[in-house]
Amino acid sequence: MAAILERKTEDVFNRGKQPVHSGADLQKIAMETIDLSVHYGEKTAIHQVSLRFPEKNVTALIGPSGCGKSTYLRSLNRMNDEIEQCRTDGKIMYKQVDINSDEANVFEVRKQIGMVFQKPNPFAKSIFNNIAYGPSHHGVKNKQQLHDIVEESLRKAALWDEVKDQLHRSALALSGGQQQRLCIARALAMKPEVLLLDEPASALDPVSTGKIEELISELKQEFTIIIVTHNMQQAARISDHTAFFYMGDVVEYGETEQIFTNPQKQQTEDYISGNFS
Ligand code: ADP
Repeated sequence: MAAILERKTEDVFNRGKQPVHSGADLQKIAMETIDLSVHYGEKTAIHQVSLRFPEKNVTALIGPSGCGKSTYLRSLNRMNDEIEQCRTDGKIMYKQVDINSDEANVFEVRKQIGMVFQKPNPFAKSIFNNIAYGPSHHGVKNKQQLHDIVEESLRKAALWDEVKDQLHRSALALSGGQQQRLCIARALAMKPEVLLLDEPASALDPVSTGKIEELISELKQEFTIIIVTHNMQQAARISDHTAFFYMGDVVEYGETEQIFTNPQKQQTEDYISGNFS
């Protein structure tokens, strides 16, 4: 049994050893859910949702408030494990392994599938230590190496130029938009492959929102991004694929352009045209 666990974990986490999908007919898929249901006690918030997330694409999850977008997003890196009475059934396939199984190492799952929340939540530490915290707890002790990770992560999050001369200042002194980019940098420092963003710009002003959107468009060259947004213009601007959620189900999924210009379902059309009651 121990060997199975070892092999499974290795399969999930040794990058590049096995292609996710090698079929020429498939766009490379970073992860997918198969019949995923999420329950809070007796209540089912997500009903057997199957979705595939193409690699190095942005997929937007849209839909009215309370329809399960955040619940579904949190399930993708087992964040719902932290919620009492929350139970997730079905499969979450990542690198050919079901990471919703008891064998998966949740700690490692969250390393590779990072998450950024709606409200910026930097630690009450310096900018440097916010970024270095994760890697140093995962064994990176060499100062130069840590510095390199901090610089690389801040550069990728388009924050380096603004903070490079004040790395030892408190992260709490940054503006809201800078704090959110810092949180993205903190997630990137763990070298994830997938980034889950839960309404990352909804607490920000329009200028900071624009910077986050630009950043997402940059990051998708390297990462697979799954974003919950209530802002349909934002979904249309930044995503490649869109899934429309309603009452815990995916009503429609497709290329963003198609969803917004030629939706196949009446509910989708009503929602995107603002006629949803
Ligand atoms: P959305 O992100 O689309 O606004 P949520 O995923 O937040 O939707 O919520 C989906 C449903 O699950 C709602 O009915 C909500 O009340 C319920 N829910 C969300 N979080 C919890 C929780 N921690 N405990 C119990 N019910 C929850």
